[in-house]
Amino acid sequence: MKPVELAPNQLHRFYRGGEAIARFRGVPSTDDHAPEDWVGSTASLFGGDGAGLSSLSDGRLLRDAIAADPVSYLGPAHTAQYGSDSALLVKLLDAGERLPVHFHPDQAFARSRLGLAHGKTEAWLIVETRGDRPTVWLGFLEDVDLDVLAGWVDRQDRATMLDALNELTVGPGDCFFVPAGLPHAIGEGVFLLEVQEPSDLSVLLEWAGFDVDGPRDGHLGLGFDVALQSARRAAVRGDELTELRRQTDTAPESRPGAYTLLPAPASSFFRAERLCPAPAVSLEQEFSILVALDGDGMLDTEGGTARLSRGESLLVPHAAGPGELTGSVDVIRCLPPAPNGDRKRDVQD
Ligand SMILES: [Zn+2]
Repeated sequence: MKPVELAPNQLHRFYRGGEAIARFRGVPSTDDHAPEDWVGSTASLFGGDGAGLSSLSDGRLLRDAIAADPVSYLGPAHTAQYGSDSALLVKLLDAGERLPVHFHPDQAFARSRLGLAHGKTEAWLIVETRGDRPTVWLGFLEDVDLDVLAGWVDRQDRATMLDALNELTVGPGDCFFVPAGLPHAIGEGVFLLEVQEPSDLSVLLEWAGFDVDGPRDGHLGLGFDVALQSARRAAVRGDELTELRRQTDTAPESRPGAYTLLPAPASSFFRAERLCPAPAVSLEQEFSILVALDGDGMLDTEGGTARLSRGESLLVPHAAGPGELTGSVDVIRCLPPAPNGDRKRDVQD
């Protein structure tokens, strides 16, 4: 089985952005509210009509192709654990304006309240930034009581909410691990690659000024009384905050030319590595999604060969076998949870 090229899959959303994605992908920018490209997606927008799902060049949905042959795409170990669920979603996200403060529920909450398999722990790999002070906000500086948080949301006290969060200036190469529950926002001018659990579950703490009906759509249909219970209200600071942030340039090398981008706790949700062939980097046999950030390279697998240049993405099925990436290319490789990780115990419970 050959590596599969993934076409651009930009989505209309309620916030501005998307020009950087179109430029990166080499396609025309036709919608100034298309700030997300779901790459190799088997997930769809929450409450939507299937928007978000990736198509293959033969017109089939990737989700259906995997469901018809999960072992070839995902491998026997992954399939034994997750069935035909890839357990992975990769996105490009270009914030044309600051995103509203929001958070994502965790897996336990998604299961018990919504009957869904995944929450939304995520990670951000900053690709490019624009403007003087590209910023993200992540986790509260101090513990926040539930009634205080509910009051901010109710009054749409945007300034107080934003001030209550850790404000971090970012640049290309910064990586953040964002566990479910942590309130966050992404600032205008930040273009990032996002790796996450395959769901679209967001609780909006802020909506004033955005083209979204927060009181109707901001709480996953659960009401804010319930939805806010899944926020992480305890402060995130010191070593914990430091652990969530990593620099691509100083990421540990796991094998020649491959660098681990996320801290160990992330690997029960997803994994991400940066591949910089020097002059070649090996890929063990595994389902993965590759996005080239820069340069031109060549991926050789037992199943076939594919070029990979800036702005292009490939899905590597398990059945492609082991591979080797060569060339002058900078690639992010995204993988589902580590086999036999903590999640397996969850699933068996
Ligand atoms: Zn988010």
